Amino acid sequence: MKKFKYIYGPVPSRRMGNSLGISPIPEKTCNYSCVYCQLGRTDHLSNIREEFFPLEDILSELRDYNVGEHDIDVISIVGEGEPTLYSRLGELIISIKEITKKPVAVITNGALLYDKEVRKELMAADIVLPSVDAYSEEIYKKIDRPYGKFKFNTIRKGLIDFSDEYKGQLHLEIMLVDGFNSSDEDIEAFKEYLKKINYDKVYINTCVRPPAESNVKPVGHDRIAHAVNELNGISIDMLASGSFYSDTENTYDAVLSISSRHPLSQFELKSFLYSRDLSEEDIDSMIAKLSVDERVTVINYGGIKTYRSRKDKRGN
Ligand code: SF4
Repeated sequence: MKKFKYIYGPVPSRRMGNSLGISPIPEKTCNYSCVYCQLGRTDHLSNIREEFFPLEDILSELRDYNVGEHDIDVISIVGEGEPTLYSRLGELIISIKEITKKPVAVITNGALLYDKEVRKELMAADIVLPSVDAYSEEIYKKIDRPYGKFKFNTIRKGLIDFSDEYKGQLHLEIMLVDGFNSSDEDIEAFKEYLKKINYDKVYINTCVRPPAESNVKPVGHDRIAHAVNELNGISIDMLASGSFYSDTENTYDAVLSISSRHPLSQFELKSFLYSRDLSEEDIDSMIAKLSVDERVTVINYGGIKTYRSRKDKRGN
């Protein structure tokens, strides 16, 4: 069976159902280095848009995958860094829509929405999901740790302008980080900020997966409930629903591939291994192998083990 390099999943997404991911960005290439990033610290902090991988190669994979043969609700351009850094994003979205009739979503940190060209390219997407982690320069710098001279007011204006121009579904996500942006005052300030944005939904999330920085902690259910109530938001539950899926025949390789894009909690890992009809014995031995594999980091966060892998130098 063909091994895919740019597409992965489908991944069960609380927000969008079965989501087939497309990653046009090399691992950890981003214009932010968020303290809560589940992929670890950003090691390629950049704001230069590039065609990191040939557009034709990505599209050819998608054609080979044959979306119609799978249970997919949405195609998400997401991945291992910030997707708006892909210089041919607009063409990518338009071409995906020529290949499949499934809706196309772009999950972004929203930083480049100040750029008219990026806003124009995103117009072709059906759903755009920008993050809104801050309402002030101070919190923005503290949580998102942006590239170079990014200013909160520029980012804020970009999002407001985009929300006025965009005709598709605009879903915001606020990531609450304990002690950073989650007090009553913070929620009140978010409320004021949101009034300026023309959005369809706001999701409230917290960092349930191991973050880039060890001092980062998720907020409790009461904080989430408070924010949901005050902001008229939707809570993203703590654990993903459904099970993961991979076309990679070799189960061990499939786990490495999924966990490089989407770190797997011990529960998600087990449920994926069960879906492969492995015996308890095989599951235990695979988990033991993962635990000592140098490509895999096992993080104990909140009493739950999470498996995060990095690709080897060949990108496998
Ligand atoms: S969470 Fe997203 S925006 Fe933040 S550093 Fe990670 S990839 Fe970049």
